[in-house]
Amino acid sequence: MRRISILGATGSVGANGVDLIRRAGGAAAHHTVALTGGRNIAKLAQMARELRAEIAVTAHEDLLSDLRDALSGSTVAAAAGPSALIEAASRPADWVLSSIVGSAGLAPGLAALNQGGVLALANKESLVCAGPLIHAAAKESGARILPVDSEHSAIFQALGSDNLETVKDVTITASGGAFRDWPLERLAAATVAQASTHPNWAMGQRITIDSASMFNKAMEVIEAKEFFGLGADRIKVLVHPESVIHAIVSHVDGGSIAHLGAPDMRHAIGYALNWPDRAPLPVAALDLARMGSLTFRAPDETRWPALRLAREVMAAGGMAGAVFNAAKEQALDDFIGGRIRFTDMAPRVEACLSCLSGKDGFSLDAADLDTVMHWDRAARQEAAA
Ligand code: NAD
Ligand code: MG
Repeated sequence: MRRISILGATGSVGANGVDLIRRAGGAAAHHTVALTGGRNIAKLAQMARELRAEIAVTAHEDLLSDLRDALSGSTVAAAAGPSALIEAASRPADWVLSSIVGSAGLAPGLAALNQGGVLALANKESLVCAGPLIHAAAKESGARILPVDSEHSAIFQALGSDNLETVKDVTITASGGAFRDWPLERLAAATVAQASTHPNWAMGQRITIDSASMFNKAMEVIEAKEFFGLGADRIKVLVHPESVIHAIVSHVDGGSIAHLGAPDMRHAIGYALNWPDRAPLPVAALDLARMGSLTFRAPDETRWPALRLAREVMAAGGMAGAVFNAAKEQALDDFIGGRIRFTDMAPRVEACLSCLSGKDGFSLDAADLDTVMHWDRAARQEAAA
Protein backbone atom coordinates (compact mmCIF):
# COMPACT_ATOMS: atom_id res chain seq x y z
CA MET A 1 0.00 0.00 0.00
CA ARG A 2 1.32 3.39 -0.93
CA ARG A 3 1.25 6.07 1.74
CA ILE A 4 -0.17 9.33 0.35
CA SER A 5 -0.81 12.86 1.64
CA ILE A 6 -2.66 15.75 0.01
CA LEU A 7 -1.79 19.28 1.07
CA GLY A 8 -4.71 21.54 0.13
CA ALA A 9 -7.07 18.58 -0.31
CA THR A 10 -10.21 20.73 -0.23
CA GLY A 11 -9.18 22.92 -3.16
CA SER A 12 -9.78 22.41 -6.85
CA VAL A 13 -6.59 20.40 -7.54
CA GLY A 14 -6.66 18.67 -4.14
CA ALA A 15 -10.28 17.50 -4.55
CA ASN A 16 -9.40 16.12 -7.99
CA GLY A 17 -6.56 14.24 -6.31
CA VAL A 18 -8.97 12.84 -3.71
CA ASP A 19 -11.33 11.84 -6.52
CA LEU A 20 -8.56 9.88 -8.24
CA ILE A 21 -7.59 8.14 -5.00
CA ARG A 22 -11.26 7.26 -4.46
CA ARG A 23 -11.54 5.81 -7.98
CA ALA A 24 -8.31 3.86 -7.43
CA GLY A 25 -9.93 2.03 -4.51
CA GLY A 26 -9.78 4.65 -1.75
CA ALA A 27 -8.82 3.48 1.72
CA ALA A 28 -8.63 -0.13 0.52
CA ALA A 29 -5.88 0.70 -1.99
CA HIS A 30 -3.93 3.58 -0.43
CA HIS A 31 -2.95 4.48 3.08
CA THR A 32 -3.77 8.17 3.52
CA VAL A 33 -1.40 9.84 5.93
CA ALA A 34 -2.48 13.49 5.99
CA LEU A 35 -5.12 15.68 4.36
CA THR A 36 -5.03 19.44 4.87
CA GLY A 37 -7.47 22.23 4.14
CA GLY A 38 -8.60 25.70 5.12
CA ARG A 39 -12.01 26.94 6.23
CA ASN A 40 -14.15 24.23 4.62
CA ILE A 41 -14.15 21.94 7.65
CA ALA A 42 -17.09 19.81 6.55
CA LYS A 43 -15.39 18.94 3.26
CA LEU A 44 -12.04 18.23 4.93
CA ALA A 45 -13.65 15.98 7.55
CA GLN A 46 -15.72 14.12 4.98
CA MET A 47 -12.62 13.43 2.84
CA ALA A 48 -10.56 12.36 5.85
CA ARG A 49 -13.27 9.98 7.07
CA GLU A 50 -13.74 8.49 3.63
CA LEU A 51 -10.00 7.89 3.04
CA ARG A 52 -9.43 7.00 6.73
CA ALA A 53 -6.58 9.47 7.00
CA GLU A 54 -4.21 9.39 9.96
CA ILE A 55 -4.65 13.13 10.44
CA ALA A 56 -6.66 16.05 9.05
CA VAL A 57 -5.26 19.57 9.48
CA THR A 58 -6.90 22.94 8.96
CA ALA A 59 -4.64 25.92 8.39
CA HIS A 60 -6.75 27.94 10.84
CA GLU A 61 -6.15 27.53 14.58
CA ASP A 62 -9.58 28.96 15.44
CA LEU A 63 -11.24 26.05 13.62
CA LEU A 64 -9.61 23.25 15.63
CA SER A 65 -12.64 22.51 17.80
CA ASP A 66 -14.93 22.53 14.73
CA LEU A 67 -12.63 20.02 13.06
CA ARG A 68 -12.52 17.85 16.20
CA ASP A 69 -16.33 17.87 16.32
CA ALA A 70 -16.59 17.00 12.63
CA LEU A 71 -14.22 14.04 13.11
CA SER A 72 -15.67 12.76 16.38
CA GLY A 73 -16.27 9.02 16.41
CA SER A 74 -13.67 8.46 13.66
CA THR A 75 -10.05 7.36 13.98
CA VAL A 76 -8.81 10.52 12.23
CA ALA A 77 -6.72 12.86 14.41
CA ALA A 78 -7.39 16.62 14.14
CA ALA A 79 -4.87 19.45 14.21
CA ALA A 80 -4.74 23.12 13.21
CA GLY A 81 -2.37 25.95 12.40
CA PRO A 82 0.81 26.44 10.41
CA SER A 83 3.07 24.26 12.59
CA ALA A 84 0.54 21.40 12.51
CA LEU A 85 0.57 21.69 8.71
CA ILE A 86 4.33 21.30 8.68
CA GLU A 87 4.18 18.37 11.09
CA ALA A 88 1.60 16.61 8.91
CA ALA A 89 3.57 17.30 5.72
CA SER A 90 6.71 15.88 7.36
CA ARG A 91 5.11 12.49 8.10
CA PRO A 92 6.64 9.72 6.03
CA ALA A 93 4.71 9.27 2.78
CA ASP A 94 5.49 7.82 -0.64
CA TRP A 95 3.46 10.38 -2.62
CA VAL A 96 2.49 13.89 -1.55
CA LEU A 97 0.32 16.23 -3.63
CA SER A 98 1.36 19.84 -3.00
CA SER A 99 -1.82 21.73 -3.88
CA ILE A 100 -2.08 24.61 -1.43
CA VAL A 101 -2.51 27.92 -3.24
CA GLY A 102 0.08 30.68 -2.90
CA SER A 103 3.45 30.94 -1.18
CA ALA A 104 1.67 29.43 1.86
CA GLY A 105 2.39 26.12 0.10
CA LEU A 106 6.16 26.60 0.17
CA ALA A 107 6.95 25.56 3.76
CA PRO A 108 4.66 22.48 3.79
CA GLY A 109 6.03 21.46 0.38
CA LEU A 110 9.61 21.74 1.66
CA ALA A 111 8.66 19.67 4.72
CA ALA A 112 7.28 16.97 2.41
CA LEU A 113 10.44 17.07 0.28
CA ASN A 114 12.62 16.69 3.36
CA GLN A 115 11.01 13.33 4.18
CA GLY A 116 11.77 11.93 0.69
CA GLY A 117 9.25 10.19 -1.58
CA VAL A 118 7.52 11.80 -4.56
CA LEU A 119 6.29 15.38 -4.43
CA ALA A 120 3.59 15.93 -7.05
CA LEU A 121 3.87 19.68 -7.37
CA ALA A 122 0.83 21.76 -8.32
CA ASN A 123 1.94 24.68 -6.13
CA LYS A 124 3.88 26.57 -8.81
CA GLU A 125 4.50 29.40 -6.34
CA SER A 126 7.10 27.19 -4.58
CA LEU A 127 9.28 27.10 -7.68
CA VAL A 128 8.71 30.77 -8.54
CA CYS A 129 9.67 31.88 -5.01
CA ALA A 130 12.37 29.40 -4.17
CA GLY A 131 13.39 27.13 -7.05
CA PRO A 132 16.97 26.60 -5.81
CA LEU A 133 15.74 25.74 -2.27
CA ILE A 134 13.23 23.23 -3.63
CA HIS A 135 15.86 21.48 -5.74
CA ALA A 136 18.38 21.47 -2.88
CA ALA A 137 15.83 19.88 -0.52
CA ALA A 138 14.99 17.18 -3.09
CA LYS A 139 18.66 16.44 -3.67
CA GLU A 140 19.38 16.19 0.04
CA SER A 141 16.55 13.73 0.82
CA GLY A 142 16.44 11.91 -2.52
CA ALA A 143 12.84 13.06 -3.09
CA ARG A 144 11.51 13.14 -6.66
CA ILE A 145 9.53 16.15 -7.88
CA LEU A 146 6.90 15.54 -10.56
CA PRO A 147 5.06 18.39 -12.27
CA VAL A 148 1.29 18.66 -11.88
CA ASP A 149 0.75 22.00 -13.58
CA SER A 150 -0.73 20.80 -16.89
CA GLU A 151 1.78 22.59 -19.15
CA HIS A 152 4.75 21.29 -17.17
CA SER A 153 3.37 17.77 -17.06
CA ALA A 154 2.95 18.14 -20.84
CA ILE A 155 6.59 19.22 -21.29
CA PHE A 156 7.72 16.38 -19.02
CA GLN A 157 5.71 13.85 -21.04
CA ALA A 158 6.71 15.26 -24.45
CA LEU A 159 10.36 15.19 -23.43
CA GLY A 160 10.23 11.52 -22.50
CA SER A 161 13.76 10.25 -22.39
CA ASP A 162 15.05 12.97 -24.75
CA ASN A 163 17.98 14.98 -23.64
CA LEU A 164 17.36 18.65 -22.81
CA GLU A 165 20.52 19.50 -24.76
CA THR A 166 18.81 18.71 -28.06
CA VAL A 167 15.81 20.86 -27.13
CA LYS A 168 15.75 24.14 -29.00
CA ASP A 169 12.89 25.55 -26.97
CA VAL A 170 9.65 24.68 -25.23
CA THR A 171 6.31 26.38 -25.80
CA ILE A 172 3.58 26.51 -23.19
CA THR A 173 0.09 27.41 -24.33
CA ALA A 174 -2.36 29.85 -22.76
CA SER A 175 -6.09 29.98 -23.40
CA GLY A 176 -6.02 33.76 -23.01
CA GLY A 177 -8.48 33.62 -20.10
CA ALA A 178 -11.70 35.53 -19.63
CA PHE A 179 -10.63 38.73 -21.41
CA ARG A 180 -8.78 37.36 -24.41
CA ASP A 181 -11.12 39.07 -26.89
CA TRP A 182 -12.22 42.07 -24.87
CA PRO A 183 -11.43 45.52 -26.27
CA LEU A 184 -8.44 46.86 -24.30
CA GLU A 185 -10.35 49.94 -23.16
CA ARG A 186 -12.91 47.79 -21.32
CA LEU A 187 -10.34 45.96 -19.17
CA ALA A 188 -10.08 48.65 -16.49
CA ALA A 189 -13.77 48.16 -15.68
CA ALA A 190 -13.59 44.34 -15.55
CA THR A 191 -15.28 42.99 -12.41
CA VAL A 192 -14.11 40.20 -10.11
CA ALA A 193 -17.02 38.03 -11.24
CA GLN A 194 -16.08 38.54 -14.90
CA ALA A 195 -12.42 37.74 -14.22
CA SER A 196 -13.40 34.61 -12.27
CA THR A 197 -14.75 32.75 -15.29
CA HIS A 198 -12.54 30.62 -17.50
CA PRO A 199 -13.36 29.57 -21.07
CA ASN A 200 -11.96 26.01 -20.72
CA TRP A 201 -10.66 25.02 -17.29
CA ALA A 202 -12.51 24.64 -13.96
CA MET A 203 -10.03 25.89 -11.32
CA GLY A 204 -9.83 27.79 -8.04
CA GLN A 205 -10.79 31.49 -8.18
CA ARG A 206 -7.27 32.86 -7.73
CA ILE A 207 -5.68 30.95 -10.61
CA THR A 208 -8.72 31.72 -12.78
CA ILE A 209 -8.23 35.47 -12.29
CA ASP A 210 -4.48 34.96 -12.83
CA SER A 211 -5.39 33.37 -16.16
CA ALA A 212 -7.35 36.45 -17.20
CA SER A 213 -4.41 38.72 -16.31
CA MET A 214 -1.86 36.19 -17.69
CA PHE A 215 -0.04 36.31 -14.33
CA ASN A 216 -0.64 32.56 -14.26
CA LYS A 217 1.28 32.09 -17.51
CA ALA A 218 3.98 34.49 -16.32
CA MET A 219 4.36 32.31 -13.22
CA GLU A 220 4.42 29.20 -15.40
CA VAL A 221 7.25 30.53 -17.57
CA ILE A 222 9.32 31.02 -14.41
CA GLU A 223 8.16 27.61 -13.16
CA ALA A 224 9.38 26.00 -16.41
CA LYS A 225 12.76 27.71 -16.06
CA GLU A 226 13.11 26.46 -12.49
CA PHE A 227 11.67 22.98 -13.05
CA PHE A 228 13.60 22.04 -16.16
CA GLY A 229 16.65 24.30 -15.75
CA LEU A 230 16.00 25.92 -19.13
CA GLY A 231 17.23 29.41 -19.98
CA ALA A 232 14.54 32.06 -20.25
CA ASP A 233 15.25 32.43 -23.99
CA ARG A 234 14.19 28.81 -24.54
CA ILE A 235 10.68 29.20 -23.07
CA LYS A 236 7.88 30.56 -25.25
CA VAL A 237 4.20 31.31 -24.75
CA LEU A 238 1.55 30.73 -27.40
CA VAL A 239 -2.10 31.74 -27.12
CA HIS A 240 -4.24 28.74 -28.01
CA PRO A 241 -7.92 29.38 -27.23
CA GLU A 242 -9.05 25.73 -27.41
CA SER A 243 -6.61 24.48 -24.67
CA VAL A 244 -6.05 21.15 -26.42
CA ILE A 245 -2.29 21.38 -26.91
CA HIS A 246 -0.69 22.05 -23.52
CA ALA A 247 2.98 22.27 -24.48
CA ILE A 248 5.31 21.75 -27.44
CA VAL A 249 8.92 20.63 -27.16
CA SER A 250 10.95 21.68 -30.24
CA HIS A 251 14.26 19.98 -30.98
CA VAL A 252 17.35 21.27 -32.76
CA ASP A 253 16.65 18.97 -35.74
CA GLY A 254 13.38 20.76 -36.59
CA GLY A 255 11.11 18.14 -35.02
CA SER A 256 8.54 19.23 -32.45
CA ILE A 257 6.56 17.02 -30.08
CA ALA A 258 3.27 18.36 -28.71
CA HIS A 259 1.23 17.05 -25.81
CA LEU A 260 -2.54 17.05 -26.36
CA GLY A 261 -5.41 16.31 -24.04
CA ALA A 262 -8.78 17.52 -22.80
CA PRO A 263 -8.48 20.44 -20.37
CA ASP A 264 -8.97 18.33 -17.24
CA MET A 265 -6.49 18.49 -14.35
CA ARG A 266 -7.13 14.85 -13.52
CA HIS A 267 -4.86 13.92 -16.42
CA ALA A 268 -1.81 15.72 -15.00
CA ILE A 269 -2.57 14.72 -11.40
CA GLY A 270 -3.23 11.11 -12.43
CA TYR A 271 -0.10 11.00 -14.57
CA ALA A 272 1.94 12.02 -11.50
CA LEU A 273 0.04 9.49 -9.37
CA ASN A 274 0.69 6.58 -11.75
CA TRP A 275 4.20 7.61 -12.86
CA PRO A 276 6.34 5.94 -14.14
CA ASP A 277 3.43 3.84 -15.44
CA ARG A 278 0.24 4.93 -17.13
CA ALA A 279 -3.25 3.78 -16.15
CA PRO A 280 -6.80 4.63 -17.31
CA LEU A 281 -8.05 7.99 -16.02
CA PRO A 282 -11.54 9.52 -16.04
CA VAL A 283 -10.58 12.04 -18.72
CA ALA A 284 -12.61 12.57 -21.91
CA ALA A 285 -11.00 11.43 -25.16
CA LEU A 286 -10.26 14.13 -27.72
CA ASP A 287 -12.43 14.23 -30.82
CA LEU A 288 -10.27 16.29 -33.14
CA ALA A 289 -12.41 15.60 -36.21
CA ARG A 290 -15.37 17.08 -34.37
CA MET A 291 -13.34 20.10 -33.29
CA GLY A 292 -12.21 20.61 -36.86
CA SER A 293 -9.48 23.14 -36.17
CA LEU A 294 -7.12 24.41 -33.52
CA THR A 295 -6.10 28.07 -33.52
CA PHE A 296 -3.06 29.97 -32.27
CA ARG A 297 -1.91 33.55 -31.89
CA ALA A 298 1.07 35.40 -30.48
CA PRO A 299 0.57 36.83 -26.98
CA ASP A 300 -0.12 40.56 -26.90
CA GLU A 301 2.05 42.18 -24.21
CA THR A 302 -0.04 45.35 -24.13
CA ARG A 303 -3.01 43.28 -23.04
CA TRP A 304 -0.90 41.05 -20.77
CA PRO A 305 2.06 43.00 -19.29
CA ALA A 306 2.65 40.15 -16.80
CA LEU A 307 4.51 38.24 -19.53
CA ARG A 308 7.09 41.01 -19.90
CA LEU A 309 7.44 41.15 -16.10
CA ALA A 310 8.20 37.42 -16.02
CA ARG A 311 11.16 37.93 -18.35
CA GLU A 312 12.42 40.79 -16.19
CA VAL A 313 12.09 38.59 -13.09
CA MET A 314 14.08 35.76 -14.73
CA ALA A 315 16.80 38.21 -15.84
CA ALA A 316 17.03 39.68 -12.32
CA GLY A 317 17.19 36.32 -10.47
CA GLY A 318 17.81 36.33 -6.70
CA MET A 319 14.70 37.30 -4.75
CA ALA A 320 12.85 38.68 -7.80
CA GLY A 321 10.64 35.57 -8.08
CA ALA A 322 9.60 35.69 -4.41
CA VAL A 323 8.86 39.43 -4.68
CA PHE A 324 6.99 39.01 -7.96
CA ASN A 325 4.79 36.24 -6.56
CA ALA A 326 4.01 37.97 -3.27
CA ALA A 327 3.30 41.33 -4.95
CA LYS A 328 1.01 39.50 -7.37
CA GLU A 329 -0.78 37.71 -4.49
CA GLN A 330 -1.27 41.06 -2.72
CA ALA A 331 -2.49 42.82 -5.88
CA LEU A 332 -4.90 39.93 -6.46
CA ASP A 333 -6.21 40.24 -2.87
CA ASP A 334 -6.70 43.96 -3.46
CA PHE A 335 -8.52 43.39 -6.75
CA ILE A 336 -10.77 40.71 -5.20
CA GLY A 337 -11.36 43.06 -2.24
CA GLY A 338 -12.47 45.86 -4.58
CA ARG A 339 -9.58 48.17 -3.64
CA ILE A 340 -7.92 48.30 -7.07
CA ARG A 341 -8.95 47.76 -10.69
CA PHE A 342 -8.06 44.75 -12.81
CA THR A 343 -5.58 46.83 -14.82
CA ASP A 344 -3.90 48.15 -11.64
CA MET A 345 -2.46 44.75 -10.74
CA ALA A 346 0.48 44.62 -13.17
CA PRO A 347 1.65 48.22 -12.54
CA ARG A 348 1.57 47.55 -8.79
CA VAL A 349 3.67 44.42 -9.15
CA GLU A 350 6.10 46.25 -11.43
CA ALA A 351 6.42 49.18 -9.00
CA CYS A 352 7.00 46.79 -6.09
CA LEU A 353 9.74 44.97 -8.02
CA SER A 354 11.50 48.17 -8.93
CA CYS A 355 11.28 49.49 -5.35
CA LEU A 356 12.61 46.32 -3.69
CA SER A 357 15.26 45.61 -6.33
CA GLY A 358 17.38 48.40 -4.83
CA LYS A 359 17.48 46.77 -1.38
CA ASP A 360 20.41 44.80 0.01
CA GLY A 361 20.27 41.08 -0.69
CA PHE A 362 17.69 41.27 -3.51
CA SER A 363 20.07 39.84 -6.11
CA LEU A 364 21.23 36.91 -3.93
CA ASP A 365 19.69 33.44 -4.25
CA ALA A 366 17.86 32.49 -1.06
CA ALA A 367 19.89 30.49 1.41
CA ASP A 368 16.85 29.45 3.45
CA LEU A 369 13.09 29.59 3.84
CA ASP A 370 13.21 32.47 6.36
CA THR A 371 14.93 34.71 3.82
CA VAL A 372 12.33 33.93 1.15
CA MET A 373 9.46 34.60 3.55
CA HIS A 374 11.12 37.85 4.66
CA TRP A 375 11.05 39.10 1.04
CA ASP A 376 7.52 37.72 0.62
CA ARG A 377 6.31 39.86 3.55
CA ALA A 378 8.22 42.93 2.38
CA ALA A 379 6.68 42.64 -1.09
CA ARG A 380 3.14 42.29 0.27
CA GLN A 381 3.64 45.37 2.41
CA GLU A 382 5.08 47.37 -0.49
CA ALA A 383 2.40 46.29 -2.99
CA ALA A 384 -0.62 46.73 -0.68
CA ALA A 385 -3.27 49.23 -1.77
P1 NAD B 1 -7.94 26.41 -4.44
O1 NAD B 1 -8.09 27.81 -3.97
O2 NAD B 1 -9.08 25.74 -5.08
O3 NAD B 1 -7.46 25.48 -3.22
C1 NAD B 1 -6.40 25.86 -2.41
C2 NAD B 1 -6.20 24.90 -1.25
O4 NAD B 1 -5.20 25.48 -0.40
C3 NAD B 1 -7.43 24.69 -0.37
O5 NAD B 1 -7.41 23.39 0.18
C4 NAD B 1 -7.23 25.72 0.74
O6 NAD B 1 -7.90 25.38 1.94
C5 NAD B 1 -5.73 25.67 0.92
N1 NAD B 1 -5.18 26.92 1.43
C6 NAD B 1 -5.46 28.18 1.01
N2 NAD B 1 -4.75 29.07 1.71
C7 NAD B 1 -4.00 28.37 2.59
C8 NAD B 1 -3.05 28.73 3.59
N3 NAD B 1 -2.74 30.01 3.83
N4 NAD B 1 -2.44 27.75 4.29
C9 NAD B 1 -2.76 26.45 4.06
N5 NAD B 1 -3.66 26.04 3.13
C10 NAD B 1 -4.26 27.00 2.42
O7 NAD B 1 -6.65 26.41 -5.40
P2 NAD B 1 -6.38 25.50 -6.68
O8 NAD B 1 -6.96 26.14 -7.87
O9 NAD B 1 -6.67 24.08 -6.36
O10 NAD B 1 -4.79 25.68 -6.84
C11 NAD B 1 -3.88 25.04 -5.96
C12 NAD B 1 -2.47 25.18 -6.51
O11 NAD B 1 -2.38 24.45 -7.74
C13 NAD B 1 -2.05 26.60 -6.87
O12 NAD B 1 -0.69 26.74 -6.64
C14 NAD B 1 -2.35 26.70 -8.35
O13 NAD B 1 -1.53 27.66 -9.01
C15 NAD B 1 -1.98 25.29 -8.81
N6 NAD B 1 -2.66 24.85 -10.02
C16 NAD B 1 -4.01 24.78 -10.04
C17 NAD B 1 -4.67 24.34 -11.18
C18 NAD B 1 -6.18 24.18 -11.20
O14 NAD B 1 -6.71 23.58 -12.13
N7 NAD B 1 -6.92 24.66 -10.21
C19 NAD B 1 -3.94 24.01 -12.32
C20 NAD B 1 -2.55 24.09 -12.27
C21 NAD B 1 -1.92 24.51 -11.11
MG1 MG C 1 -1.09 25.53 -15.87
